[in-house]
Amino acid sequence: MTALPRGPGRFAGRTLAVATMHGKEAAIGPALCTALPLTGFNAIPDLDTDRFGAFSGEVERGTDPRTAALHKALHGAERSGADLVIASEGSFVPYPPAPFITCDEEWLVLLDARDGTSWTHRHVTLDCMAGGLACTTADEVLAFASRMGFPEHALVLKPREHWRSGDTVVKGIADRRALQGEVHRLLAAHGGLWVESDLRAMMNPTRMAAIRTTAERFARELGTCCPQCGAVHFAISEALPGLPCGLCGQPTRSIRAHLRRCASCGHFATVPREDGRVSEDPQHCDHCNP
Ligand SMILES: [Zn+2]
Ligand SMILES: [Zn+2]
Repeated sequence: MTALPRGPGRFAGRTLAVATMHGKEAAIGPALCTALPLTGFNAIPDLDTDRFGAFSGEVERGTDPRTAALHKALHGAERSGADLVIASEGSFVPYPPAPFITCDEEWLVLLDARDGTSWTHRHVTLDCMAGGLACTTADEVLAFASRMGFPEHALVLKPREHWRSGDTVVKGIADRRALQGEVHRLLAAHGGLWVESDLRAMMNPTRMAAIRTTAERFARELGTCCPQCGAVHFAISEALPGLPCGLCGQPTRSIRAHLRRCASCGHFATVPREDGRVSEDPQHCDHCNP
C-alpha cells in the first residue's frame, strides 16, 4: 500500500460517502466539502445501520458510541465499495455535570478505507428534544406530545418502556390523527402505553441540527493542520482549566486554554480560548466568591 499524504491533499478529488439511512447526508456533507478538497458527497443507498443499535430498544447497541460509528463506516465501505466514508452515532445520556438533565452526545467518524485511518469528533449539547413517559390516558399522551415538539418532532409508541419480543413498536408518528388512532388501540389492548421521542435524525429536527453542528466543528478540526508535519486534524484533545480571576488573578476552574495534539507525529501545542477571553468574572472565583 502506498502511503497517502498526511495533509488535505489526501482528500483531493474524492467523494465522501455518508453511511446513513436517516437522511443525515445533507447535515454532514456540505461542511466537510467546505473544509476539505472533496468533489462532493452522497448517501450510501440501502444501508441498514439499525443493526448496530436502535433508539427504540429492539436492537441493543453492543459497543461504545465511537466504536459503533466506526463499525457503521466500515460496513458502509464494504457494502458500497466507497473508500471515504463518514458515519454518525448519537446517545441521549445524563449530562455529566448535572445528571438530572438529558444531553445529546453526537459522534462522527471519518474512515479512509484506503489505509484504514480514521478521525473522530465528539460533540455534546443540552439542546435536545428527548423524553419518554408511561401513560394510561390519551390526554397524558397529548400533553407529553406538545412538550416534545410534536408534530415537527415525531413520536414512538409501544406497549411498555422496555421492549420485549413480540411487542409492536410504532415509529415515526408525525400527525395527530395517527397518534390518536395508535393511542386508542394500545390503551384498549394493554390499558397503558409508553410514548417516547423518535430520536432518529430525520424524525427529530433538533437532533438533525446537533448533527449539523457536530459536522461543522469536525470539519473545522479536520481542516486544521499540524504545524510540525502538516497532517490534517490537529484537533483539540483537552481543555485546560485555570482562567485567571479578573480581580485577584488566582486561577479559576474555567477553561484557560486548549491543547491541540497531532495523532500523526505526536506534536502538541497549547492554544488560547477561541473567544479570546483572558480573565474570569470574580463571581466564578473561589477566592473572591467562596
Ligand atoms: Zn478572584
Ligand atoms: Zn504532526
